[in-house]
Amino acid sequence: MDECIFCKIVKGDIPCAQVYADEKIIAFLDIAPISKGHTLIIPKVHYENLWEVPEDLGNDILRAMQKIGNGILKATGAQGLNVVMNNFPAAGQVIPHAHWHLIPRFKGDGLFKIVQGKYDSNDEIMALADKIKNNI
Ligand code: 5GP
Ligand code: ZN
Repeated sequence: MDECIFCKIVKGDIPCAQVYADEKIIAFLDIAPISKGHTLIIPKVHYENLWEVPEDLGNDILRAMQKIGNGILKATGAQGLNVVMNNFPAAGQVIPHAHWHLIPRFKGDGLFKIVQGKYDSNDEIMALADKIKNNI
């Protein structure tokens, strides 16, 4: 993955403001933050998206996310923290190296929220739930 920006950051070829590193994971500040303290957590090995990340590494990432999230909350004084992972371009994934965004939030900051929509009918929601269930 010679061209991957995040692999270059892991190798030290591109500088970053690193906040955490262990054997398998690094975390650094996003260069274009949604809010100050916006941090990216990535596996050192190049996996493209959620489904490529092995289960044991997923556990390590979750634990690191809890530790780093605490650090971000304390350092920024934020009252909340969004954890966002974009998978595939349709979901806004620009860098095809799996990563999790940790975004500090303050009450009333108005940055973003989940936009709520609706189903046309109860039949539609029940049928879709069944369809998803049958595909798991
Ligand atoms: P995505 O849209 O793929 O989920 O998010 C990629 C993120 O990587 C963006 O928020 C972007 O600002 C950040 N980013 C892109 N290039 C660099 C870089 O060279 N250094 C750092 N620290 N962040 C980057
Ligand atoms: Zn990579």
